[in-house]
Amino acid sequence: ATPMSIISGVGRAAEYGVLVRDADALQQASKLDTLVFDKTGTLTEGMPQVTEIHTFNQVDETQALALAASLENGSNHPLAKAILTRAEGIDLPEISQFRTLAGMGLSGEINGKTVLLGNPKLMLESGIDINEINSLIDTQAAKGVTPVLLAQEGKIAALLSIRDPLREDTVSALQRLHNQGYRLVMLTGDNPITANAIAKEAGIDQVIAGVMPEGKAQAITELQAQGRHVAMIGDGINDAPALAKADVGIAMGGGSDIAIETAAITLMRHSLHGVADAVEISKGTLRNMK
Ligand code: ADP
Ligand code: MG
Repeated sequence: ATPMSIISGVGRAAEYGVLVRDADALQQASKLDTLVFDKTGTLTEGMPQVTEIHTFNQVDETQALALAASLENGSNHPLAKAILTRAEGIDLPEISQFRTLAGMGLSGEINGKTVLLGNPKLMLESGIDINEINSLIDTQAAKGVTPVLLAQEGKIAALLSIRDPLREDTVSALQRLHNQGYRLVMLTGDNPITANAIAKEAGIDQVIAGVMPEGKAQAITELQAQGRHVAMIGDGINDAPALAKADVGIAMGGGSDIAIETAAITLMRHSLHGVADAVEISKGTLRNMK
């Protein structure tokens, strides 16, 4: 194992926009068998859009958007941008008692009423009955959209469907990795039905969905306990613990600073082809060293 060939491997990777932190990262990358991808912002563009709005209990679309956007104003979740964009031009009511409920959504007080926005889990944990819209939630999710629920004073007010398309080259990059024999896993906080629909489009082998932020690192540990050599590929603050836990952490170049600081490899071209380039170069380099 000569230091020179490692240095040249790191240099070659850089030509592909793949920044490798050190020799160990390249060595670990050559031993991988399992690649775990965050969904939002990694497999997908991370620029979601509202595609449908259903309202309930005498709430109209403008009111629903005003409440939802007032809450999302305080959030930096990718879903927040979608709702704020859709609500442009609508006056946003004052909000107090704003809270972020990790892995679930947001809450606050608007016009003296408690308002919640987030996934079905948030509604169930808050004691809000969603039975009447369960089948609507599932049909939306089966299309690969994320259903976001709005509740006011304990009652469902709206369902906003949010679509976050795959990056244009996700399918071809994953195909390339599949051909190289890797097991491809999706790891997401999103609901299992949405996650499975997107996994199918992308060509993913295994889905781990509905994971709370703390659970992402735990999921990596469990794969490692099965004897797998695991890379985590992610972009978000909530991916940082999993990036640190993985044998190789790979950050999307456009992602959060904390993901980039934690990862051993950063993809400057915002394309998952960078993962295929990284593993190919690492194997080529390490083979030459034997
Ligand atoms: P991920 O970004 O991987 O989906 P998170 O843990 O951030 O994972 O969120 C899990 C789920 O909680 C999201 O898929 C969404 O349904 C809901 N959620 C979280 N934050 C928000 C938010 N600001 N607005 C609406 N829904 C949210
Ligand atoms: Mg993400």
